[in-house]
Amino acid sequence: TKKEEEEAIRRSNVLENDGIGTLRKVSRQEYLKKREQKKLEELRDDIEDEQYLFEGVKLTEAEYRELRYKREIYELVKKRTEESDYTNEYRMPEAYDQEGGVNQEKRFAVALQRYRDPAAEEKMNPFAEQEAWEEHQIGKATLKFGSKDKKQKHDDYEFVFEDQIEFIKATVMDGVNVEQELTEAPEVSAAKTAFEKLQNDRKTLPVYPYRDELLQAVNDHQVLVIVGETGSGKTTQIPQYLHEAGYTARGKIGCTQPRRVAAMSVAARVSQEMGVKLGHEVGYSIRFEDCTSEKTVLKYMTDGMLLREFLGEPDLASYSVVMVDEAHERTLSTDILFGLVKDIARFRPDLKLLISSATLDAEKFSDYFDSAPIFKIPGRRFPVEIHYTKAPEADYLDAAIVTALQIHVTQPPGDGDILVFLTGQEEIETAEEILKHRTRGLGTKIAELIICPIYANLPTELQAKIFEPTPEGARKVVLATNIAETSLTIDGIKYVIDPGFVKMKSYNPRTGMESLLVTPISKASANQRAGRSGRTGPGKCFRLYTAYNYYNDLDDNTIPEIQRTNLANVVLSLKSLGINDLLNFDFMDPPPSEALLKALELLYALSALNKHGELTKVGRRMAEFPLDPMLSKMIVASDKYKCSDEIISIAAMLSIGNSIFYRPKDKQVHADNARLNFHMGNVGDHIALLKVYSSWKETNFSTQWCYENYIQVRSMKRARDIRDQLEGLLERVEIELISNSNDLDAIKKAITSGFFPNSAKLQKNGSYRTVKHPQTVHIHPSSGLAQVLPRWVVYHELVLTTKEYMRQVTELKPEWLVEIAPHYYQLKD
Ligand code: ADP
Ligand code: MG
Repeated sequence: TKKEEEEAIRRSNVLENDGIGTLRKVSRQEYLKKREQKKLEELRDDIEDEQYLFEGVKLTEAEYRELRYKREIYELVKKRTEESDYTNEYRMPEAYDQEGGVNQEKRFAVALQRYRDPAAEEKMNPFAEQEAWEEHQIGKATLKFGSKDKKQKHDDYEFVFEDQIEFIKATVMDGVNVEQELTEAPEVSAAKTAFEKLQNDRKTLPVYPYRDELLQAVNDHQVLVIVGETGSGKTTQIPQYLHEAGYTARGKIGCTQPRRVAAMSVAARVSQEMGVKLGHEVGYSIRFEDCTSEKTVLKYMTDGMLLREFLGEPDLASYSVVMVDEAHERTLSTDILFGLVKDIARFRPDLKLLISSATLDAEKFSDYFDSAPIFKIPGRRFPVEIHYTKAPEADYLDAAIVTALQIHVTQPPGDGDILVFLTGQEEIETAEEILKHRTRGLGTKIAELIICPIYANLPTELQAKIFEPTPEGARKVVLATNIAETSLTIDGIKYVIDPGFVKMKSYNPRTGMESLLVTPISKASANQRAGRSGRTGPGKCFRLYTAYNYYNDLDDNTIPEIQRTNLANVVLSLKSLGINDLLNFDFMDPPPSEALLKALELLYALSALNKHGELTKVGRRMAEFPLDPMLSKMIVASDKYKCSDEIISIAAMLSIGNSIFYRPKDKQVHADNARLNFHMGNVGDHIALLKVYSSWKETNFSTQWCYENYIQVRSMKRARDIRDQLEGLLERVEIELISNSNDLDAIKKAITSGFFPNSAKLQKNGSYRTVKHPQTVHIHPSSGLAQVLPRWVVYHELVLTTKEYMRQVTELKPEWLVEIAPHYYQLKD
C-alpha cells in the first residue's frame, strides 16, 4: 500500500555524499536516481583539450578527466565554504583538519596525490570508504523491510554479529569523588527485612552525610538553591528529612517534577521508604490523576499541577515548604512557578523555598532569587569512556539497536545494564519489537535480555519494572525517553547509548504554529546522558554521532521551553490569577514578546480576552479546564451547540494522544479493517474517536470488545477517567451535560469553535494550505481522511516528520469559519 511504501522509504533514508564530504539525508529513491544520473553525465562528458597538461605535467585522458572533475568539486567546495550554510548537514570527519576546520586545499592535494599513485588503485577514489559504507547502509535498509536480500538467508544469530558499528574511543569523563565512595562507605547494619534494607540504602546516598547541614541551612534561609548530581538523593531524601525535622507539622511539603512519570515513581519510592501506603502520607498529583488524601504531607506533583493550585490557593497557604525540583529542566511551568513562588515568598516569611538542580548553573537561580545561598551536595561519579561513531548514522534507531546487541553479546552478562535514549513512545515500542525479534530463537546462545521501556504514558503497573534488580545471568536494557536523563535514576547502568536526539516542541511565533520535532540534543544533555553510566562503577557511553558533530553541531545548552513554545495556556492561567501586566512579569528569561503577543491574539480570537486584554466570562470558564485553550474553548462552545456530552468524550480521546489503535504485525489487515469501521461515511477523525468511545461504552466498557477491535484497553480506561473529570468540571462552570449524537454538524461546529485557527484548504496537488498564515501541510497518513481529501479541514495538531502533517482532521464548511469567528476570518468574494 501507499502507506507501507512511504514508510519503507522513510526507514531507508540514506546519507548522500555530494562529493565534497558533505552528507545530506535523502530518500533511498532519490539517492539511487541521482547516482544513475551522475554516471550518465560522466559518460557523456567529453574532453576538448588534447594536451591534458596540468602544471606542466602531461596526463592521460582518464587522469585529466578525473582531475577536472575534482577541480569542479574544489570550486564548488570553495563556494559553499564561503556560503557556509551547513547547519542541518552532517560532515565526514576526513573533511576537517585538526582544528576542526574544513581544509579543502589539503583535501584536494591528498586526492591528487592518491590519484597519482598508480599502485594504489583502491585509493584512487577518496570516497571509496564512504561509498562502501553507503552500500552497507542501503543493504541494511533493504534487509529491514524484508526484501529478498541474500543476507536474509543467514540466521538471526549471525546477523547479530555481522551487523556491527565501529566506534572510536575519544575521551574519558573523569570520575568525581570516587575515593570518597571507597573510603567513607557508611556503616550499615545487616538488613533483616526489605524495609531495613531500604533504610540502609538511604544511608548510602551522597546526600546523607549532609543531612544535618542541609536542615540547618533550610532553617537559616528562606530560599535555598540545592545542587547535586542526578541520583544523589535530592528528590527522594530532602522532603523526608524535612518531614523528619517537623516541617510538616505546619503544612504540606510540595515537590514539583517536570514529568508525570517522575512524580509518580518517586512518590511510590518514598512511600516505600517511609513504610506507608501510596496516597496516604506520601502522594502525588498529576493532571487528571490525584493520588493524595487528607493525610498527605509529602506531595510530589508535576510543575503544571502546582501552577493550577495557585488558582485555588494563591498564597499556597497549605504548604510549609515548596521544592521546585529539576529546576535545570526549565520547563515552561517551572519558569512561571519561579515568578510566582518568588512573589509569595515575600509576604509569607514562614514558607521555605527550595530550588534544586542537577547541573552547575546554579548561580543563575541564586541571582534570580535575590542571591539565595547555594548548597552543593558533592556528587560521586566513576569515570566514563566516551565513544563516537566513525561516521554519522543514517538510521539512529537501527544503530541504537545494533549497538545494544553488540554490547550484549560481547560483554559478559552481569557486568552492567544498558540504557538507550530514544525520543518517544512510538520509537521505543518499535525498538522493543525489533529487539525481541532479533533475539528470538537464539535460546541459550546469548544471555537473557530483559527489555524495559519507560516513557510518559507508560501504564503505572509497568513502570516499576525498570527498577527491579536484574536477575543473575541476564541483562537489562532500558529504552527510555529523556526522562532518564535527570528525572529518574536507574541503578546498575553501565552502558549508555545516546543517539543524540530528543523530541522537542518548536514554535513559530510568526505563524503561531507549534509542532513536535525530533531535534539534536545540547552538549549539556549529552554529558548528563553519559554520566548515567558511571553511577555504580566505571561506565561507557556510545554516542551515535561523530566527535565532530558533538563539538560543532550541538548547542551548549537547551533553550528554555518558554522561549520556544506557544504561551496561550500560560497567559490564560496568569490572567486568571489576576496577573495582567505580562510584559513586566518577573521572568528568569523572558519569552520573545512576539510569542506573548501571539498568545494574547489567540486568546482574544477565542473570546477568552476582551479588547483590553481582560479575562471574559468565556475565558474564566476556559481556565477551569486543565487543557490547551483551543480544547477548553471547544468544550465551552459545546454549550451553545448542545452537544457537551459528545465533546467531552472527544476531548478526552484527543488528550490521550496516539495510543488508541494498535496494529500487531501479523494482523495488520484485520486491524486496519476494524479501524475503518469507525471511519465509515468519512466522518473525520474526531467523530471516529467519538464512535470508538461510545461503542466501547455501549458494550459496558468491555475489554473483550477492545481486543476484537484492535483498541488499547489501557488508553480507553484513561480516556474514561479523563472524561469523568471533564464531566465534573462541566458542572463547575455550569454547563449542562447534553447529548446530541445525531447532529454531527453541531459537533463539528463546536470543534471548529475551538480549532478555527487550525483550518486548511485543499490545493490542486493534494496538499493543504493553512488559511490564516499560509503554510503547506498534509493530512497524516493515519487519518481516515487521508484518501478523501476534503476541500476544507480543521486539524487538532501539526507534527513534523518527513513533512508537516496535520493529525486528527475533520471536514468543515467554510461558511462556519465566518459564522463562528467573524473577527478572524472574512469571506472573500
Ligand atoms: P536525585 O533527585 O538527586 O536525582 P533521587 O532522590 O531521585 O536522586 O534518587 C536517589 C536514589 O533513589 C537513586 O539511587 C534511585 O535509584 C533511587 N530511586 C528513586 N526512585 C526510585 C524508584 N521508583 N524505585 C527504586 N529506586 C528509586
Ligand atoms: Mg531528582
